[in-house]
Amino acid sequence: MASAPEAPAGRDFDYDYIVAGAGPAGLAAAGFLAKSGSRVAVFENRPRPEDVFGSYPVVLNARGIAALEQLDEAVAKRACSTGMDVKELHIVPGNRTVARVKTWGTGIMRDQMAQILLESAEERANVTFFWEHKLSSIDFAAHSCSFCLPDGSEATFTASRLVAADGNRSRVRRLCEENVEGFHVEADPWGFQLRFMTSKGQPGQTVVDPAHHFVLGDKGYVCQQPNGVWSVSLRVLPGQDEDFLTANEATEERVEKLREYTTKHAKDFAENLLDDEAYRGFYSCRAFDGIVVKCSCLNPAGWVCIIGDAAHAVQPATGEGINSGLEDAAVLGQAVLESPEDPFAAYDARRREDAHALHALALRARDKVVAPPPRQQAASIMVTIGLSIAKKLHTSAGTAQDYMLGERARTVGVKGYAELVAMEDRQTRGLRKVAMGIGKVFRIPKDRRTAHRV
Ligand SMILES: Cc1cc2nc3c(=O)[nH]c(=O)nc-3n(C[C@H](O)[C@H](O)[C@H](O)COP(=O)(O)OP(=O)(O)OC[C@H]3O[C@@H](n4cnc5c(N)ncnc54)[C@H](O)[C@@H]3O)c2cc1C
Repeated sequence: MASAPEAPAGRDFDYDYIVAGAGPAGLAAAGFLAKSGSRVAVFENRPRPEDVFGSYPVVLNARGIAALEQLDEAVAKRACSTGMDVKELHIVPGNRTVARVKTWGTGIMRDQMAQILLESAEERANVTFFWEHKLSSIDFAAHSCSFCLPDGSEATFTASRLVAADGNRSRVRRLCEENVEGFHVEADPWGFQLRFMTSKGQPGQTVVDPAHHFVLGDKGYVCQQPNGVWSVSLRVLPGQDEDFLTANEATEERVEKLREYTTKHAKDFAENLLDDEAYRGFYSCRAFDGIVVKCSCLNPAGWVCIIGDAAHAVQPATGEGINSGLEDAAVLGQAVLESPEDPFAAYDARRREDAHALHALALRARDKVVAPPPRQQAASIMVTIGLSIAKKLHTSAGTAQDYMLGERARTVGVKGYAELVAMEDRQTRGLRKVAMGIGKVFRIPKDRRTAHRV
């Protein structure tokens, strides 16, 4: 644990726990803490959400569902019946389907999941919600948190413990970095933005199956939302991509170029799902970006713990963001029950290694979206092919992917991230060495600069 001043002994606090952030991780944590009988207050910067389809689609996998089941079977059931089954993940770079992965998951909007958790937490008398309260500062010695309100006023509350669930660019995490000795954070930008187009699709189209999700190589992602609307997201590289991908205003020329680009890289989806309105909507859609985060510990100052994206933000291609946050909440709930004298130390002890392993998985997944140097990219493709041959020959008991979005996580069991990274390293070490050797023999450029010159 990184250290900060201790709280004055014998203090009465306003709450046992303050939870900063009412995203999926914070709301699930509030549910687990309330179940243990604690007085919990949740503070959220945004107003209480009304339009759940204003957010983006995510996939709950076996890990996320298992955490929800631990919280409340009814919540897990509601999430599964609200969302849509995702049966297969198709990898479709350049209009060719190169892999079909059997999947076990539920496609749901981020805010839809939050809404289900919120309604469940609101049924508990010992949880209080403060909407439009933005955490601005922390007095680490006094255990107090101050919040800005929309009218410019400030409110301060104290708590025995603080759970930071305030997302990717967590204010709590930043304040801990500034004030808690020994606590440090690694943060790397995703390196790209995601922009969305939504459309009802051509009536009666049967080319694109709603039970499947589609990865457009490093270009984007396609899936159907639970309200029947199709979501097509494109990866945008600011500073590198052309104006028609990075601009914020729709012009005839940009819309036409965007249509050509989408048809070139995702023909079936462009022809069957998208219309003029969808292309125009691209320019009014918020461009999402973020950072990949690794914290030196998850209980800075002893009375603060960090969960969800605040603790280990990944980028969307990892497919574990919401699931790891829900699992954090379940681990925290267990720590509160089993180690009531210092639950945050117990949480850190159980979770830190997995959080760091998730960071490693996130950096590997980023390489699939933001193309790595040619030789490394070719080696990754050879390793993927090698792994699938090993699976077909039954010499491998499945890959890390099979234990994340794949069916094995449900049939065999959810594995911790540290175990998955160790498994992947074991399976790929030899293959990668051979693949890099083949890349050298065939003179595939080692870095991007050389590639441009060739
Ligand atoms: C475009 C996109 C696509 C994604 N796709 C997937 C996917 O397919 N699969 C997947 O598993 N994950 C995906 N994710 C990631 C996933 O959405 C997050 O990992 C998950 O929402 C994290 O939950 P959280 O509760 O930790 O943080 P968040 O969902 O970010 O919630 C944090 C909350 O804290 C609030 N907050 C922030 N600052 C303050 C403050 N100072 N005071 C009070 N409140 C504050 C915010 O308003 C927010 O409501 C995606 C993310 C994005 C952006």
